[in-house]
Amino acid sequence: MNPVSIFKTIRSRAMLLSQLSALAIGSTLLTTPSAQAVPPQVKTQAPGYYRMMLGDFEITALLDGTVTLPIHTLLTNTTPAEVEKRLAGEFLKPQLETSINAYLIHTGSRLILVDTGAGVFFGEKGGGQLLTSLKAAGYQPEDIDTVLLTHIHGDHSGGLTLSGEASFPNATVYVDQHEADFWLNPANEASAAANQKAGFATAATLFAPYLAAGKVKTFQGNTQLFPGIRTVSSYGHTPGHSFYAIESQGQQLQLWGDLLHVKDVQFASPSVTIRFDVDSPAAAQQRQKAFANAAKQGYWVGAAHISFPGIGHVRKSGNGYAWVPANYSLPR
Ligand SMILES: [Zn+2]
Repeated sequence: MNPVSIFKTIRSRAMLLSQLSALAIGSTLLTTPSAQAVPPQVKTQAPGYYRMMLGDFEITALLDGTVTLPIHTLLTNTTPAEVEKRLAGEFLKPQLETSINAYLIHTGSRLILVDTGAGVFFGEKGGGQLLTSLKAAGYQPEDIDTVLLTHIHGDHSGGLTLSGEASFPNATVYVDQHEADFWLNPANEASAAANQKAGFATAATLFAPYLAAGKVKTFQGNTQLFPGIRTVSSYGHTPGHSFYAIESQGQQLQLWGDLLHVKDVQFASPSVTIRFDVDSPAAAQQRQKAFANAAKQGYWVGAAHISFPGIGHVRKSGNGYAWVPANYSLPR
């Protein structure tokens, strides 16, 4: 057999084998139900953290979970129809799945958590995953030395305790004096709006182990807490609602807490408010001021209820503003 005919023989045998195996596969497909051929759908998301560097500081956005809210019935100083129209324009429904974000700052010498997620505040409806996200991100609750609260609402302070025990046993909790004076004084409950009343008993329970250990500290308005960490008063949503401005190597990130709840409505219309506001007109004014400042200065922003990780920039757009989410990046 010459080399050419050997090659032809090998090739024809190879073709025959491949045809036979194709037939075998075909018969397998015909006889085996396809449902058994693949594993069940997994239906989990990637671990709930997102990392970025801010100068020398490591910032980790932590997802506490999501909760679905009937947002068209909660926003005020607008109409349900207007809200539905705006959301539809973003391919969203008025029953809006809303992120609950917290932020971890590693300064090199401190490990600081800004807000603690909802804990059991929303029950089965969502949230309460902050510790899982924290551990997935490479840290333990005991590692945290400082908790900064933007305000004392259940979805921001609810993760302070678990079954009455401090979730962050080595941390000191910081909050604005006006916030502590309001929520930690049961005498204020009588005069509070109906939908705010439950907040007083909740706050007392959540703060109890930290108060007992002498680990609650308050600040008065704009205050430099640590190198690179200062507070910015934004009273309105609650009496002592505060931002935290984080700065390292000329870069700045402002953590806004509940300055806004629905980015797809309130950036375009900062005057739109929400039922959870203690003082809605003041909250709207703070939002307008913060949006204008962020658009002018160009710093990073992180917000608790902007779709996770809730980090991005603000730019001017027409008569309002627009949100520019962070470009996906690896921390270096
Ligand atoms: Zn709030």
